[in-house]
Amino acid sequence: MIPQPKFDLGQHVYAVTCNRVGKYANCTACNSKKYILINKESFTCPKCRGSGSWYTGEEVRHMLAANGFIGKISIEAYDQKYDRPNTIRYQLDSTGVISGILWDEENLFSSKSKAMEAILIRNKNHEEEDSD
Ligand SMILES: [Zn+2]
Repeated sequence: MIPQPKFDLGQHVYAVTCNRVGKYANCTACNSKKYILINKESFTCPKCRGSGSWYTGEEVRHMLAANGFIGKISIEAYDQKYDRPNTIRYQLDSTGVISGILWDEENLFSSKSKAMEAILIRNKNHEEEDSD
C-alpha cells in the first residue's frame, strides 16, 4: 500500500533541522571581562586570550531551518517482501523544488508553534542524553 503524505502540495510548513554547534563557557579567570589586572595594569586574559570564553565541545541543537510552500512530494514505497521503510520527503519553494533540500516528514510542521514545540522537546532530550 502506498503511504499517504501528512502534508499537501502548496501547504505552508516549517522545517526543523539539527546542527552541531560549538559550546562555550564563560572564562573563570577574567569573569569574561577579557582582561586581567596585574599591579593595576590591564593585560589580555591569558586563559581565554581575550575572547571572554572558550570552546568546550560540540552539542546537537535542533532549530528552525526554513519555512515555505510544498512544491514537491517524493514517496518511496517498497513492497512488503523487501522489508524496507517507506519514506516521504518534501521540497519547499524556499529551499528548492527542482533541486534542493529534501525534508523528511518528521521534520516538517504545519505551524511555527508546533515546530518550536518540537524543537524544545528535541533539545531537551539531547540535554538529558548529554548529562548521562
Ligand atoms: Zn579570560
